[in-house]
Amino acid sequence: ASFAHLGFDEGLMKEIRKSEYEHPTPIQSQSLPAALSGRDVLGIAKTGSGKTAAYLWPAIVHIMDQKDLQEGDGPIALVVVPTRELALQVYQEARRFCKAYNINVICAYGGGSKWEQSNELSGEGAELVVCTPGRIIDLVKIGATNFTRVTYLVFDEADRMFDMGFEAQVKSISDHIRPDRQCLMFSATFKSKVERLAREALNDPVRIVQ
Ligand code: AMP
Repeated sequence: ASFAHLGFDEGLMKEIRKSEYEHPTPIQSQSLPAALSGRDVLGIAKTGSGKTAAYLWPAIVHIMDQKDLQEGDGPIALVVVPTRELALQVYQEARRFCKAYNINVICAYGGGSKWEQSNELSGEGAELVVCTPGRIIDLVKIGATNFTRVTYLVFDEADRMFDMGFEAQVKSISDHIRPDRQCLMFSATFKSKVERLAREALNDPVRIVQ
């Protein structure tokens, strides 16, 4: 398998080549076609599988498709992760692959300055936001951003978000985002709480087990 048949444009292909990725990882070759066709995805995959790119590349394609159709300054794609460390890591990867595009990426995590994150969000706005659950809810509550434009939603490391006690926040985020959004969920394990969220948040998902 190669990247060629996925239909990515030159901006993304250039960064993929620069990264020296020769071919899609197994999780990528299964989830990319599904995600690019607009389907929901449930991926059981661990760190190191290439799952981040598996949801970021279709996020970029989605944003470029939607950008001019939807006015507003809230995110078009929202990526929710359990920890500050993972948020920063995903943010770096997103920045790298967004280079060729006019896409603003913002990272909002608990422990960072709420004031700064709020200014970033309400100032320039951002098409792609990487966040931890509690913090993004706080930022929406104070009016720094909103979910009205979100049509691509990712829950990464869902099992870890539950282990960290974010169940109510994750559910609240899912409930406050329009039901016709595309949603992707990744988890290293498939525990009952993950199963329940998958049932509630995903619509006829393509299931992928690494
Ligand atoms: P992740 O599972 O998203 O944390 O990715 C683990 C590592 O794999 C990261 O350092 C990525 O840069 C790298 N990676 C992602 N996709 C590929 C690919 N198709 N080929 C080789 N490495 C990759």
